[in-house]
Parts: sequence; C-alpha cells; structure tokens
Amino acid sequence: MMNSKVSSLERLTQGNQRFVDGSQLLCRDNGQEGRMEMAAGQNPFAIILGCSDSRVPAEIIFDQGPGDLFVIRVAGNIVTPSQIGSVEFAVMQFGTPLVVVLGHSNCGAVQATLDEVRRPSGLQSPNLAVIIDRVRNALDQLMEQQMEPEALMQKAVKANVLASVKQLQHGSEIIEQLISDGLLHVIGAEYSIETGKVEFYG
Ligand SMILES: [Zn+2]
Repeated sequence: MMNSKVSSLERLTQGNQRFVDGSQLLCRDNGQEGRMEMAAGQNPFAIILGCSDSRVPAEIIFDQGPGDLFVIRVAGNIVTPSQIGSVEFAVMQFGTPLVVVLGHSNCGAVQATLDEVRRPSGLQSPNLAVIIDRVRNALDQLMEQQMEPEALMQKAVKANVLASVKQLQHGSEIIEQLISDGLLHVIGAEYSIETGKVEFYG
C-alpha cells in the first residue's frame, strides 16, 4: 500500500493519542509469521528525526511497531550530512512521504546550549561542540530578546526544531526535488514529556 502524507500524519496522531490514553495496541509483531514477512522488506510510513533523550522513544510515544517508522535519533535533533543521507535513503528506497522533526520539552541539548551561550565553559569536547554549535545557530535571534528562563527554553526548543526542518528541506538537491514534486513533506513537532502529547507545528 502506498503511504501518503495525510495518512501518515493521521497514523502518528492516532498512535500518540493511544499512548496518551494508555490504550496502546498489543501483540503487533505477529510472531514468527510476521517476522518472516518483515524480513522480505520494509515500508515505513514516516521518518522521525528525533532527539536521543531516553524519555522520547519514537516508536513508543507514537504506539507503532517494527517496520512502521524509520527513526533517526541524535542529541538535539540536529541536521548534519548523516541525517540528510539517512532521509534520502529512506525516501528513495521506500518512498516514505513524511519526515517529522521531533523536539521535546526540557531538551538537555537545548538547555546545554543556552547555558553555554550564557556562560561559556570552554570544557566541551570538539564532538559535543558540533552539536552545541548547530543548536546555537538556531537560537541566534532568540538570544537577543529578554525573557524568563522557562519561556526562553520553550521558544528555544521550537526554534531548534524549525531550524532543523529548514535545513532538511534544503539539505540536498534530491530532497528539494522530492519536495517540489510533492513526494516529500518535512514538518516539525514537539513532544511534551509532562503530558505525553505530540503537538505538530502548523
Ligand atoms: Zn533532547
């Protein structure tokens, strides 16, 4: 069955609602028969670019099983060439029509970046600096505004997601072409650790 953006979004929304309600579907791997079927190939209906945070496991919060989601997780849900390549792979191999960049409340990577901007520690490793720098670029305009720490954190999470959406949309010629042909959509969303709810951005 061909996946479409609308049906993919619906499945994610409904799955998240089941997670919030505690009415998750059970026994979704269909035992040995299901595994044999899956070994023949995959057809994930959505790509999730999410944060590595242990509290935001994509399959669980969307109540999906093996074979349903193509998941890329990296601290701070940032976009680097590896993430772009992973998206290209999934879209070209499986025709997956939807990418959701999923940020979340209380994101440690965003908080670490805000702390680093305010009080540079100079102690971070060059590898960690790559992540912090990506997030920092997304927050540039925010840092000039005066705001309470909580409000700043909320706005920073959203700005970081939207920056990743933009970077993915223009990440490569292949992706730009797929988007202009209407075959791929990249949207942002935010998971609330407190409520379990995923809010999709407009
Ligand atoms: Zn995070």
